[in-house]
Amino acid sequence: PRVPAPRNEPILPYSPGSPERRELQATLKRMSGEQIDIPLIIGGKQVRSGKTDTVRMPHRHSHVLATLHEADASHVEQAIQAGLAVKEDWARMSFSSRAAIFLRAAELLATRYRPIINASTMLGQSKTAHQAEIDAACEAIDFLRYNVHFAEQILAIQPESSPQTWNMLDYRPLDGFVFAVAPFNFTSIAMNLCTAPALMGNVVLFKPSSTSALSAWYFMEMLREAGLPDGVINMLNGDGPTVGNPTLASPHLGGIHFTGSTPTFNTMWKTVGENIGKYKQYPRLVGETGGKDFIVAHASAADDVEALAVAIVRGGYEYQGQKCSAASRVYVPESLWTKLKPRLQGLIGDIRMGDVTDFRNFMGAVIDEKSFKKVSSYIELAKQDKDASIVAGGETDRKEGWFVKPTLVQLQDPRHRIMREEVFAPLVGVHVYPDGKYVETLREVDQSATYALTGAIFGRDRKAIDTAMSELRHAAGNIYINDKPTGAVVGQQPFGGSRASGTNDKAGSLLNLIRWTSPRTVKENF
Ligand code: GLU
Repeated sequence: PRVPAPRNEPILPYSPGSPERRELQATLKRMSGEQIDIPLIIGGKQVRSGKTDTVRMPHRHSHVLATLHEADASHVEQAIQAGLAVKEDWARMSFSSRAAIFLRAAELLATRYRPIINASTMLGQSKTAHQAEIDAACEAIDFLRYNVHFAEQILAIQPESSPQTWNMLDYRPLDGFVFAVAPFNFTSIAMNLCTAPALMGNVVLFKPSSTSALSAWYFMEMLREAGLPDGVINMLNGDGPTVGNPTLASPHLGGIHFTGSTPTFNTMWKTVGENIGKYKQYPRLVGETGGKDFIVAHASAADDVEALAVAIVRGGYEYQGQKCSAASRVYVPESLWTKLKPRLQGLIGDIRMGDVTDFRNFMGAVIDEKSFKKVSSYIELAKQDKDASIVAGGETDRKEGWFVKPTLVQLQDPRHRIMREEVFAPLVGVHVYPDGKYVETLREVDQSATYALTGAIFGRDRKAIDTAMSELRHAAGNIYINDKPTGAVVGQQPFGGSRASGTNDKAGSLLNLIRWTSPRTVKENF
């Protein structure tokens, strides 16, 4: 029986006094007052290695939310074996039974688990209620529901037959296990990295980011409650290379489902290359990595200066700019800049930043000290450079949390490091170009950064939009016309980019799911 096409989960507003706000606040209070112990999960069993690290609130770094147990090479071996032990049973389970588990998980997340997953994302990853809701609730629910729908569409893709011959595609899972490696910035992505391959019948070794271990722990609990059999997804927290190296050296590695930094993905790819003779099969490598996402305004956006300013602020600073898709380089014609600059200064000046449990705040803290230091060094670079001027922000404060004011820097040089390098923080570079140099500017946008994830074009002149669409043909996997470059919706804007931004296997579409099958073609003569 086919599932009906899903609808995107509606975003709850959390307005003052609403039942959802009260429930979320109660959950935040409870979670802030406890300090849980996060074990490894191997074959459904909780394993405590005794080697621990802490999960802290980025906006109040003295506060320890949880301790997490870290895996070593022996846990990696146990987790791989636990997956292989259940692999055949899981793969042979009917598709509808597997699908039902994930649809039940979506239902749990839409109801009882919603405040839990949102609160753990807010406290552990410093997301505001709205940012948590669109990620950890809505996008995660959408991934779970839409993936079932996409998988059914894939199963229905079948070859031609004839009266004497029946041809079939048998969508087997990959041979081996899938290694899912998650970033800290999206709870929904972490969940999708393991559930998409699992839905297609694969077993998964899941490595969350230590800084988002709290939300990962709760969604693993939710998946267990939804009926996911033991061993299908095994979770190992710990140091990247300590977990990654033995995993990537396993002959049973069937695929990698990765979201994170470009250097980490490059290292993994190299390690796979070094181990290539060991594998029973060529592993599938699917990765979504960095971005240096642009907004280019054309002079014809003159009537839309307000929309442009809002897109820069929301695209650049929501979740502290820690989205692969975040707008971090902006190109504005001189004719717009005089109007746009004061508007941006006004909007940025009004931004409230602080503890995310105060619902009036628009921004929380950056994820950790490493990230704080990195963005601080770029802000320092801008302050030292006589060709750079700080238009807004520029202050940091590490006393209680890793707080970085939303910062806008104007740069004479479109090749400045701030216009080319991914910082993953609330730092946006602006280059003001002469109105007559639109096409040259588009070429600059295309050539100056190594990434190609998202980008936005603002303008009302259709010819100018067309020119941008052709000049920037390979500069972004997701392009937005008159909108911010963040916030892709599952089922609506399949997400992913090329060049240094990844393998472009479009999360939130059947193009991703199809990577987790190894079809067998069957021909039978009658
Ligand atoms: N899909 C998210 C968006 O469109 C970004 C994902 C990421 O940061 O990896 O904003």
